[in-house]
Amino acid sequence: MASEKEKAQQVAAVRPPAADQPTIFDKIVSKKIPATILFEDSTALAFKDISPQAPVHFLVIPKKKTGLTGLSQATESHEQLLGHLLVVASKVAKQEKLQEGYRVVINDGKNGCQSVFHVHLHVLGGKQLGWPPC
Ligand code: ADP
Repeated sequence: MASEKEKAQQVAAVRPPAADQPTIFDKIVSKKIPATILFEDSTALAFKDISPQAPVHFLVIPKKKTGLTGLSQATESHEQLLGHLLVVASKVAKQEKLQEGYRVVINDGKNGCQSVFHVHLHVLGGKQLGWPPC
């Protein structure tokens, strides 16, 4: 079984990210594949991670990635969207009773262990997390 690191390196090597290439998250947005949705509005979706790394682990994504395969593609034009994703993360963390605290992570590119090239925030909590993460 490949580690997260190996998986991300394999994905990046075989299929370098293209801005217009649909990802599995587009299928979740269009409800072609199921997910446990925690929050949805006109621009963002939050759903449980299929492979949770903490007792609470959900993802926040923009419904349209608008060129944002990863955070490294961000420009000034994405400021409002990226701010909105953080506010949604905070709202859903409250909803999921993470009042003791939580962590928000954005993996970017091969070294960041990104495997899905549709920008997303991981929100992890529900236990005492360690630091550093690497
Ligand atoms: P990594 O796979 O190394 O965590 P990413 O930061 O790109 O890299 O995270 C993608 C996340 O998407 C993973 O945590 C993975 O478990 C999650 N994921 C993949 N497919 C689904 C799915 N169908 N439903 C929910 N989460 C998914």
